[in-house]
Amino acid sequence: MPLFNRLALIGTGLIGSSIARAARAVGVVETIVATSRSEATRQRVRELGLADQVAETSAEAAEGADLVIVCVPIGACGAVAREIGPHLKPGAVVSDVGSVKAAVVHEMAPHIPRGVHFIPAHPVAGTEDSGPDAGFAELFVNRWCILTPAADADKAAVERLSQFWGAFGASVELMSAEHHDLVLAVTSHVPHLIAYNIVGTAFDLRHVTESEILKYSAGGFRDFTRIAGSDPTMWRDIFLNNKDAVLEVLGRFNEDLATLTRAIRRGDGETLFNLFTERRAIRRGMVQFNVESPAPKFRQAPAEPHAEPPLPRPYAASNDG
Ligand code: NAP
Repeated sequence: MPLFNRLALIGTGLIGSSIARAARAVGVVETIVATSRSEATRQRVRELGLADQVAETSAEAAEGADLVIVCVPIGACGAVAREIGPHLKPGAVVSDVGSVKAAVVHEMAPHIPRGVHFIPAHPVAGTEDSGPDAGFAELFVNRWCILTPAADADKAAVERLSQFWGAFGASVELMSAEHHDLVLAVTSHVPHLIAYNIVGTAFDLRHVTESEILKYSAGGFRDFTRIAGSDPTMWRDIFLNNKDAVLEVLGRFNEDLATLTRAIRRGDGETLFNLFTERRAIRRGMVQFNVESPAPKFRQAPAEPHAEPPLPRPYAASNDG
């Protein structure tokens, strides 16, 4: 049974097009209408057959939709909400997929009319690729989708949106927008900043050649370069819109880094060993906590997207299990 009749996707890049593909695959909606800012992307959406209808504008897409999901960069969510606000159907659910929540809620909420249910969301899933060709139906399988409804949000609407994401194989969690932003600052935003930074540092070193970096970049560093290949617009918007939480985590990070720096400078092996042992215990605890959710019933067997080739020994971590 479809959960929503008409789904409108505003923005059809990696996330929007993955939602379109997943919604088709599991049959959670009757009709999909999609739009994108540029004619080039709208044309690609037509060619890929991602939607039943491709609308020219966000307002046209939102008209008559039961579920509207805004899948554009965080900095553009407010303007989209302003455009679609007057065209939303009473009783419709409006959501987004932004990687930062409090700022997006602040920008979007004033434009959502009474009688329309605004339930912000963040599927914690993605790749470093962008655009409608980059999406795939299995993107959300075994990933978290965090919903940040207001305390007085309509419970039935929250439940229906939870079922929608659950149908894609995601595990749904509810929390406040502010808590989401702090959690994501530490698990995603600051790690990305570190990746952007270390890649710059490495390529700035005068005595190490670029070809040496490329040749020897195994394991951890290769992951840093992959992460640093992420979309600059999206990441600029994340840091502009999650400033407070990121600065708080960065402050703590710098203190911890200073402890490590001092231990290395003083040749303090005991401190290093104790810290590494403690951190290894955290890593092992995380592996045990890795709860898997049941796979959704996709029509086709899930492909193995972006499977990385195994790391050459001895660089691969031997104690990952
Ligand atoms: P994407 O692949 O670059 O697609 C962006 C979409 O937004 C395209 O349809 C693009 O239209 C449209 N767009 C770009 N700038 C716009 C603007 N100023 N006004 C209106 N529309 C605009 O991006 P994405 O990776 O799908 O990310 C979309 C959202 O998902 C972001 O809010 C991001 O925080 C969130 N998210 C991303 C990931 C990830 O890993 N990528 C993970 C979770 C959540 P045109 O192509 O027509 O220009």
